[in-house]
Amino acid sequence: MIECDVAVLGGGPGGYPAAIRAAQLGAKVVLIEEDRVGGTCITIGCIPTKAWVQTAHALKEAHETFAKIGVTVKDAQLDFPATQANKDTIVSGLVNGITGVVKANGITVVQGRGSFTGPTTIGVEGGEEVGFRQAIVATGSEPLRPPVDGIDGPLCVDSTGLLAIEQVPERILVLGGGVIGVEFASIFRHWGCEVTIVEMLDRLIPMEDADASKELERAFKKRGITMHLGAKASRIEHAKAATLTFQSADGTEGSVEADLVLVATGRGPRVEGIGLEKAGVHFDKRAGIGTDEQMRTNVPHVFAVGDVAGRFQLAHTAFREGEVAAENALGHDAEIDYTAVPRCIYTDPEVAAVGLTEAAAREAHGDDVAVGRMPFSANARAQMYGEKVGWVKTIHETRYGELLGLVIVGPQATELVNAGVIGITAEATIETLADSIAAHPTLAEAVKEAALVSLGRPIHLPPQRPRAKVAAAK
Ligand SMILES: Cc1cc2nc3c(=O)[nH]c(=O)nc-3n(C[C@H](O)[C@H](O)[C@H](O)COP(=O)(O)OP(=O)(O)OC[C@H]3O[C@@H](n4cnc5c(N)ncnc54)[C@H](O)[C@@H]3O)c2cc1C
Repeated sequence: MIECDVAVLGGGPGGYPAAIRAAQLGAKVVLIEEDRVGGTCITIGCIPTKAWVQTAHALKEAHETFAKIGVTVKDAQLDFPATQANKDTIVSGLVNGITGVVKANGITVVQGRGSFTGPTTIGVEGGEEVGFRQAIVATGSEPLRPPVDGIDGPLCVDSTGLLAIEQVPERILVLGGGVIGVEFASIFRHWGCEVTIVEMLDRLIPMEDADASKELERAFKKRGITMHLGAKASRIEHAKAATLTFQSADGTEGSVEADLVLVATGRGPRVEGIGLEKAGVHFDKRAGIGTDEQMRTNVPHVFAVGDVAGRFQLAHTAFREGEVAAENALGHDAEIDYTAVPRCIYTDPEVAAVGLTEAAAREAHGDDVAVGRMPFSANARAQMYGEKVGWVKTIHETRYGELLGLVIVGPQATELVNAGVIGITAEATIETLADSIAAHPTLAEAVKEAALVSLGRPIHLPPQRPRAKVAAAK
């Protein structure tokens, strides 16, 4: 038996930071991983998808932007084998990098499938049993498939299957208009595919600010992506092509034919088959393992982090939860704070947000909410990028002026949103944003200017009628 202070089950963005932080605090740590260290994020999630996004973006630039800004490129085409090779090189480089960092921290990596055999032991398939004082469960999540006839047929893939294709299909149908679905839809459209999205709810990215959904739908429509919203898939038939039949909200039936169907209808926590019952840890198949703010489960010496803990399905929340769990496992008193979690969607245009949506802010603060909106079409740097789509929206409450939310659709939104992460974390007021000096010419000026708009003081836009009471008026 390998004895340790802290055993970490799963080496993704929840598990490996937990192992590293515990080692930094002087613990003897064992990390049990059945596949590659780095987890879904590095091997089949964030990293390979964003490597594809970059290829899609480069093609877009070659087709649409270069000529506009005076660069001639003839015959820009997708070289898919090279795209895959680039993606795989990035993935293996990052896997090697993080495995090296884990080992450099003195952490023992045990390769194999682990499952609890009791309250202080984890058995590892084909390996030695691990005995621990504290354990951190970080087994992640797996794709869910809704009960639709034919959804397990040969022309249906999940995101992992899609990332492994050898040929780009001519027509792809994306079932699900959430984050993963819209990212792939955006990529495949730039790669020249016919793309159709079928989404059960009445808008894309339904958890985001309604204005952001509208802007993305508008942009997708312009890009030639077909969307069936409020459409419930009822069956998929597989012949030479796949035919998906759906029911619209008004009861009418429609169908779409495609060469490949991406099933992107959500992921569920990986809670089964890991012996949680033997450790006495409570869990729910849909909601995951419940924890308190210290990431502690109902069993005080067992913690759960990342997708399996069921709160978010984001690598960056998993990173922080891992650190918090490790510190508490070693006697510290750390708490997780989700006030300013950035939510980034790497579509074209990008969508990024932090804090409250406008609807949530109005629900919480009633009429004491003001918003400011600055279009990228009035931002100098966006013109240089050849981008005119999108805007920045600030959301604040008007009693104290506290910044509640930032929503961005447009170029570099996923980078710009970090201004809001810092602002909301620091409980900054809208004046802090508006009166700060943003470098010129930058896209970041749009963040400052949106704050100015919300205060009725725009400089690069004509005077506007306020959409709600502003702080200055109180
Ligand atoms: C296509 C796609 C794109 C994504 N893009 C983004 C993005 O851009 N940004 C973002 O923040 N998030 C993104 N995510 C989500 C992100 O990947 C996850 O939120 C994150 O990986 C969760 O980390 P985790 O450590 O909880 O789980 P995982 O990363 O899933 O890691 C769990 C690890 O545990 C191992 N494991 C499981 N069971 C056992 C066992 N019994 N024994 C041993 N090992 C085990 C697995 O092999 C795996 O390595 C994306 C996800 C997908 C699918």
